Amino acid sequence: MTDALLEAEPLIRLAAFAGVFAAMAAWELLAPKRDQEIGRLRRWPSNLGVVVVDTLLVRLLFPTAAVGFALVCEARGWGLFNHLALPIWVEMAAAVILLDLVIYLQHVLFHAVPALWRLHRMHHADLEFDVTTGVRFHPVEIVLSMLLKFAAVAALGAPAVAVLVFEVLLNATSMFNHGNVGLPERVDRILRWIVVTPDMHRVHHSIEPKETHSNFGFNLPWWDRLFGTYRPRPRAGHEGMTIGIPLFRDPKELRLDRMLLQPLRNDDTEAPR
Ligand SMILES: [Zn+2]
Ligand SMILES: [Zn+2]
Repeated sequence: MTDALLEAEPLIRLAAFAGVFAAMAAWELLAPKRDQEIGRLRRWPSNLGVVVVDTLLVRLLFPTAAVGFALVCEARGWGLFNHLALPIWVEMAAAVILLDLVIYLQHVLFHAVPALWRLHRMHHADLEFDVTTGVRFHPVEIVLSMLLKFAAVAALGAPAVAVLVFEVLLNATSMFNHGNVGLPERVDRILRWIVVTPDMHRVHHSIEPKETHSNFGFNLPWWDRLFGTYRPRPRAGHEGMTIGIPLFRDPKELRLDRMLLQPLRNDDTEAPR
């Protein structure tokens, strides 16, 4: 079981990524929410290029990934759940929800600490908002995020299957909620009690600082409501709002080499307030 899970993990993740990506790309093509000024050809090679860099780096540094680490914790009896005799479904649900809370808090931290914002601002520097924005994260942010996830997995003693479910879910919801798509308003209003919708997360990519620093959730929408960081809609409307941050407005910044070096650029280090 253990080895089978580890062996299947990369394939399960790749299949989920490819499936959700294709579905979102098709949806964006058929019914885009916003007209894009900068086309896919200019952005997608870089945004997808960074996914390749991220994946290679993570697999190189952490060959068995978080799932493998969860198995180590299980074997050594590390973490809360490995000391409690809870039913597996309770452990699974609690682990997925608590890992999501950790990712929410991490996102808030990456906005609040200037050195971390330097890394995270690359995600916000995309000048359009679509499925590829959802996977556009600086490799160093991905590595730090992985270390934090390892710490959370060890503290919780999260079941390995729950870690895999959480990672697949987070990747899928991130591509869904960065989609250049919209749902009927009534559907969106109901759905955003269960999952972060594209209209909810788009607010987070607004150039207006108050909006940049709201709607931090990637998967579950509850944390923003609970911690007071929820903003229902952008001031200028979804079609009228400007995507991005003030610092990197030149479309040249959408090149992969530029993106990777953005954290080192000696411009304002603080997140816009
Ligand atoms: Zn952010
Ligand atoms: Zn985002």
